[in-house]
Amino acid sequence: MSALAYVRPEGVDEAVALVSGDPGAAFLAGGTTQLDLLLKDQVIDTTTLVDIGRLPLTGTTVLDGDILRVGALTTMADLAEDAVVTERLPFVREALLAGASIQLRNMATIGGNLLQRTRCRYFRDRTVPSCNKRSPGTGCAAITGPARMHAVLGAGQHCIALHASDLCVPLVALDAVVRIQGPDGRRTVPLTEFYVLPGERPDIENVLGHGEMITHVDVPLPPRGTRSRYLKVRDRASYEFALASAAAALVIEDGTVTRARLALGGVATVPWRAHDAEDMLRDVPATTEMFQAAARAALRDPYTVPGTAFKVELAQRTLVSVLEDLAGLAGVTAAAS
Ligand SMILES: Cc1cc2nc3c(=O)[nH]c(=O)nc-3n(C[C@H](O)[C@H](O)[C@H](O)COP(=O)(O)OP(=O)(O)OC[C@H]3O[C@@H](n4cnc5c(N)ncnc54)[C@H](O)[C@@H]3O)c2cc1C
Ligand code: SF4
Repeated sequence: MSALAYVRPEGVDEAVALVSGDPGAAFLAGGTTQLDLLLKDQVIDTTTLVDIGRLPLTGTTVLDGDILRVGALTTMADLAEDAVVTERLPFVREALLAGASIQLRNMATIGGNLLQRTRCRYFRDRTVPSCNKRSPGTGCAAITGPARMHAVLGAGQHCIALHASDLCVPLVALDAVVRIQGPDGRRTVPLTEFYVLPGERPDIENVLGHGEMITHVDVPLPPRGTRSRYLKVRDRASYEFALASAAAALVIEDGTVTRARLALGGVATVPWRAHDAEDMLRDVPATTEMFQAAARAALRDPYTVPGTAFKVELAQRTLVSVLEDLAGLAGVTAAAS
């Protein structure tokens, strides 16, 4: 293994300058993904780790009464216990607590969660020669190999790698905005536009340039009276990535859905905002039949391989189940803000 430099900058400006000025440098936050990829799997070629873990980008603030600003270095555990998240964003809390393990959530940060790399086993095994994400132009081993933990939405012949974050699923449903600081200044990008579909370049995963740091995530708070829920289906009860997940925030008045914000996880190459399903649920009765129609719309035109075909129905059922819960059709009490 080659030599690895480690630096701990004093501020955001210095951290940005250190990474943007060195093609081999990368940010290190909680380290829960970065060190695995670098030291255990050895699939990234970072030569300098710029440790931002102690920069003062932690905690939350409510802006203008309706936006929760989250520091990028807030841990998953701390955000799950935040009073505003608990009261107004129950499905964000559910997603956080459904992710990883207690130990990991105590270390892992919100910015790092947004930027976690795929769990695709072929990507993480450098002895596998065909991986367009790791080595562009080499092919995709997952298309013909076992692919149970892969994507059916936003996928294609060049890559079917899953975006594994739970947190990003409710965040994309809420129209969260990513605040970024880089060598050319500050900018904001909606989370729905932050990730890039694999297309022919699966190695390009998001719009961040080298040296750009996420400083905050702004989360619009939904109207009071919104009911929200995150449901994650996985092979075992804890410490496991999703096979399918759904985040929904609904306002239901007199049995009619008046507002729906929906997203899917565990089935897509990016956190998947289900716009087509939302369109189906505009001012319609909150019935199982309407929810099933919306779920079919959400999974329209999947790209499947034999190992992933089961996920289409699984994701539809997951979405219907969460919507039924929120509408009180399944006898389950949903959290309301
Ligand atoms: C065994 C295991 C199980 C897991 N299970 C789940 C799960 O079920 N659900 C789930 O959602 N997640 C899961 N995770 C992923 C976990 O949530 C992420 O590893 C974690 O959120 C990453 O945060 P971090 O602070 O440790 O980031 P790091 O590992 O330090 O960094 C991750 C990446 O983000 C970059 N980065 C970090 N912060 C910034 C920033 N502010 N600006 C720019 N770049 C930045 C780093 O350079 C690196 O490329 C699991 C991880 C492990 C190891
Ligand atoms: S799915 Fe993507 S990350 Fe996985 S082997 Fe194929 S190209 Fe690589």
